[in-house]
Amino acid sequence: MLVGVLALQGDVREHRSAIERLGTESIGVRRTSELDSVDALILPGGESTTIDKLLRAFDLFEPVRDRIAAGMPVLGSCAGMVLLARDIIGGISGQHTLGIIPMTVRRNAFGRQVDSSEVEMRWRPDGTTMHATFIRAPWVESYDTDVEVLAVDEAHGSHVVAVQYRNAIATAFHPEISGDDRVHRRLLDLV
Ligand code: GLN
Repeated sequence: MLVGVLALQGDVREHRSAIERLGTESIGVRRTSELDSVDALILPGGESTTIDKLLRAFDLFEPVRDRIAAGMPVLGSCAGMVLLARDIIGGISGQHTLGIIPMTVRRNAFGRQVDSSEVEMRWRPDGTTMHATFIRAPWVESYDTDVEVLAVDEAHGSHVVAVQYRNAIATAFHPEISGDDRVHRRLLDLV
């Protein structure tokens, strides 16, 4: 099994380390030949507007979207969650998303006061606590009924901050920097 981390911008190295801690090989993905070789893909945190522009500049936008639409498991964290959303609130003009998950996310939703924060959340799949780091994070404003909610951030007002829809997992927080590998393991379980 080989997991790709989209390596155009953002915290690529941390995601690769998380995957490798689980005993699985990873590569950075910058071209279609690399995309073709992976069994699953991670869209890292960073800046969604920049990653969107680079996806198009590197001619990767359609190939990435098509592979995910064809069933390749994908995990998007933070900016990656924005990229997976069907609709965004607070995007810049001309910002595109891959439109994979039928949800609307609000960019930079937590506002200046909670620019970055660490909270204990409940991870619904196993009902136990998960430590989560948010950095200029989005939240899920609304979603279709067939989207599964994986986590809600009670500390900041019960916003949905992790979801799964078919082969796509999205988290508003950064699972790659907490040392808690449950989110990455869930991606590997989809392969
Ligand atoms: N605010 C960023 C965006 O909208 C996401 C921040 C992050 O990925 N840490 O792209």
